[in-house]
Amino acid sequence: MITLGIESSCDDTAAAVLDDDDTIRANVVSGQDTIHARFGGVVPELASRRHMEAITVVVDEALRRAALDLRDIDLIAATQGPGLIGSLLVGFSYAKALAFTTGRPFVGVDHMAGHLLSAFLEPVKPCFPYLALIVSGGTTALFRVDDFFTFTLLGRTRDDAAGEAFDKVARLLGIGYPGGPAISRYARQGDAERFVLPRAWLEEGSLDFSFSGLKTAVLNQYRQIGDHRDDRLLADLCASFEQAVVDVLVSKSLLAAKQLAVSSLVLGGGVSANTALRTILTDRCRAAGLQLYLPAVQHCTDNAAMIAFAGRKWLQQKGPGSWSDDVFSRSQLGQVSQTFR
Ligand code: ATP
Ligand code: FE
Repeated sequence: MITLGIESSCDDTAAAVLDDDDTIRANVVSGQDTIHARFGGVVPELASRRHMEAITVVVDEALRRAALDLRDIDLIAATQGPGLIGSLLVGFSYAKALAFTTGRPFVGVDHMAGHLLSAFLEPVKPCFPYLALIVSGGTTALFRVDDFFTFTLLGRTRDDAAGEAFDKVARLLGIGYPGGPAISRYARQGDAERFVLPRAWLEEGSLDFSFSGLKTAVLNQYRQIGDHRDDRLLADLCASFEQAVVDVLVSKSLLAAKQLAVSSLVLGGGVSANTALRTILTDRCRAAGLQLYLPAVQHCTDNAAMIAFAGRKWLQQKGPGSWSDDVFSRSQLGQVSQTFR
């Protein structure tokens, strides 16, 4: 079975072609960073309009790279939510139209399920049950994953997502968009011990996160810096901030693994591109005897291959979607200790 995946939940228009044996024949992503950069964040209406312009080109390009025709596709899977409604409607309606015209089944996929299962796109697959840390611009959460359909939310951010904190801090420091890569670049040259910044551990044993206090602490430090063009100081502030975020993410993941007695950890979401997070998580997992699965960066950030994978699993076990299926803005995986759907 060959699956065409389509992803348009936020500001990336993506299409992928996945074989039955999980070989990725094509994985195309068209980003919109240059469109949103001058606003310092995603502007929903601009995002939807750009998806409209890009969707046909991106899907055609995926088929071209896979050396396939639309008639060769057996299943069409598209992100149904969560995300920006206008953005989701473009990809989801396009997928339905393709399915309708080709007579193939289509399946709506929860974007979070895509992230949680993205480690299966790698040659070495994780074993169930595993713990998943999903860190992106819209989400920071820890899940227990028992099978392809059972995801239990263990903890999540109470305010900003980690990626959102990176983006907001970069904006207030005036160092670029998207914030994660910009802060990382500065942090690489900086001294993480220079500024003492808070870590929100919350109540004892809590697996929830909070990053808004850290963001305010960075702002206060920044205000106290006399010369805002001092790159050394900016680098030190970025390094100290990055260290504080990574420290909490890694420590809470290890705490969750201990609490649940789970021995595998999977990382997902755009912040997984962060080198400090990857390095420190690798070291701490090794020391704790935890098996760590780090998908390639292009499988951690928003992509359609993970949607194709989750969609095929869903079809095989639960059957196709219905023509009346609608998009949703909040994840169905959102309730603590509830099973997905
Ligand atoms: P979702 O809808 O799942 O929340 P998203 O729209 O946030 O996804 P992703 O590609 O998963 O998209 O993640 C983008 C986020 O990852 C942005 O907030 C960006 O700043 C952050 N990010 C990207 N690279 C890095 C990095 N090197 N270090 C830290 N954060 C990063
Ligand atoms: Fe995402």
